[in-house]
Amino acid sequence: MIDGHVHLEKGPLTVAYVMEMVDAAVRMGMDTLQILDHTHRFHEFEPLYTTVKARHPLQAAWLAKKGKDSLLDYHRLIEQVKALDLPIHVDFGLEVCYVPEAKSFLSDILPAYPYDFIVGSVHYIDGWLYDMPFSQELLWQKQSTDAIYRRYYALVEQMMRSGLFTQIGHPDTIKLFDWWPAYDLQPTYERLARLAKEKHLKMEDNTGCYYRYHTKDLGLNDAFLKCLLACQVDIITASDAHYPRHVGAYLREAEAKIRALS
Ligand SMILES: [Zn+2]
Ligand SMILES: [Zn+2]
Repeated sequence: MIDGHVHLEKGPLTVAYVMEMVDAAVRMGMDTLQILDHTHRFHEFEPLYTTVKARHPLQAAWLAKKGKDSLLDYHRLIEQVKALDLPIHVDFGLEVCYVPEAKSFLSDILPAYPYDFIVGSVHYIDGWLYDMPFSQELLWQKQSTDAIYRRYYALVEQMMRSGLFTQIGHPDTIKLFDWWPAYDLQPTYERLARLAKEKHLKMEDNTGCYYRYHTKDLGLNDAFLKCLLACQVDIITASDAHYPRHVGAYLREAEAKIRALS
């Protein structure tokens, strides 16, 4: 069983901390672990966040706490861990905040290191964070839910077409507050499923919103999951753990659901 999306960001970039994650994965019965961190952990990715910072002081203050680490230290850690004899398969990558205007910056920086995988995620709608407590005032009360969903999925589609990523992070997480649009999402799900197949992208069935935001969906929405299965897309189970205690969280249930809908 795979946990395809686990963060180190709440701990130090040390072998000992990676081993806490690996031990947790072993206890949860995982045979493969994909470790990553958000690009906003590393100061080298600061150019990605110009718009997000400029939009509002609350967003700038949130980002000011990030970007404290160096990518070179992460690369050094990856090499140290890869030299060890580990009980399960462990891969290392990044979770990249997809910002369309930064495409050329990303095209230069991402291939400069041989990551095992690169996840692209939409965390901002044109520079507005959608998942923070302050997002309600700054985004959700300013734009219609339909407009936010349409823009979110347009960005997801653009990200999938960018050629920068091997895996798509939590591809329907805009639903995290369980606010749904009035329009039918089925054509969107079908279009994205066909695109994922065409571009050979892994799509995450990510349980993070279930245990962090208490969404009704365990991971992907059933209708979206059915479209991905119908198109034979490679679906990867992912906990989005930010702490060792969440590694593998609800992935057994997620896998059972995938089997039931297949
Ligand atoms: Zn994410
Ligand atoms: Zn994540």
